[in-house]
Amino acid sequence: MKGAGGAGRWIRPEIRELAAYHVAEAGRYAKLDAMENPYPWPASLPPALVRQWQERLAELELNRYPDPAAPELVRGLRRYMAIPADAAVLLGNGSDELIQLLLMGVAGEGRRVLVPSPGFSMYAMISRFVGLPCHQVPLRPTDFSLDVDAMLEVIDREQPAVVLLAYPNNPTGNLFREQDVERILDAAPGLVVIDEAYYPFARASFMDRLRRWPDLLILRTVSKLGLAGLRLGMLVGSGDWLGEIDKIRLPYNISALTQATAAFALEHPATLDEQAERIRHDRDRLYRQLAARDQLEVWPSAANFLLLRCPSGRAGSIHRSLFRSGVLVKNLHGSHPLLHDCLRVTVGTPEENARFLEALDRALGGD
Ligand SMILES: *Cc1c(COP(=O)(O)O)cnc(C)c1O
Repeated sequence: MKGAGGAGRWIRPEIRELAAYHVAEAGRYAKLDAMENPYPWPASLPPALVRQWQERLAELELNRYPDPAAPELVRGLRRYMAIPADAAVLLGNGSDELIQLLLMGVAGEGRRVLVPSPGFSMYAMISRFVGLPCHQVPLRPTDFSLDVDAMLEVIDREQPAVVLLAYPNNPTGNLFREQDVERILDAAPGLVVIDEAYYPFARASFMDRLRRWPDLLILRTVSKLGLAGLRLGMLVGSGDWLGEIDKIRLPYNISALTQATAAFALEHPATLDEQAERIRHDRDRLYRQLAARDQLEVWPSAANFLLLRCPSGRAGSIHRSLFRSGVLVKNLHGSHPLLHDCLRVTVGTPEENARFLEALDRALGGD
């Protein structure tokens, strides 16, 4: 229904200007655009475990609201993610929701967010939703490392309430240098969030440094590990911060189905861990294969995706050609000056990666 209602008048102009978040339909495509694990869960579990999981779900009382504290799931997460005993944990409906909650918690007159760029698009987008100006400091153009001096200058001048760093960074795939991140932690006047969404593929973390910086929070998710459909993320850090952010959380944000399934998955993590290892191996192989094509530039990655640069002016046509061949990747050209002519491809199954390379070669030879 389309009418002459009041949306055009009452929705804030900065929201009306935005385009709705676009999600490509998967269908029969090799879906290499959203950093998902390509192996289906629960279908990749041994059949006996699939039955156990189904039995666990059948016991749930879905007529009741879920337990907001999700104690069983939190125990499983603490064990699986080696969360220090004295750190608090706050669960979100995906880590996106936690970013939203913490930015809502600090938003107000004179408050600002600082992020390096190019970075995870949700940081700037959610800042905008909650009315926070978001300062973006460019990464260094050749290797996408942090320009620490520029970051420190903005920290000094703007006194940001929150600094958000993805570690490894999306869409560039690199881990920032530890000493660069530590200089930012030393200088920041407010909260510093290190988003470790790609931890299963990078296995580098600041979790062991929570005690040293009381205003550091670590963000994790089960999405990239292989459970994106559950929508479960977690913030880890001081109870002071998390207790305040928890007040904004809607009381039943983690469904009973998600709680039970995630707890079960973390009791039986072998399949997911093996898949992460396979993906790391296939990522390095795909990196070498792309690096061997002299028309392309490709960057090393600690995540489950690779950033590549096409010959000048051709990213759009190569993206379309891949799409016609049934391969979905992300076209980043136009999203940031440092990403000109760039595509981002998620590491899929070996068959999907081969299909991508074949389609890419056709596209590169084609026009
Ligand atoms: C994919 C991604 C997320 C999304 O996490 P959800 O838990 O699925 O909301 C968070 N941070 C970064 C950097 C990502 O790339």
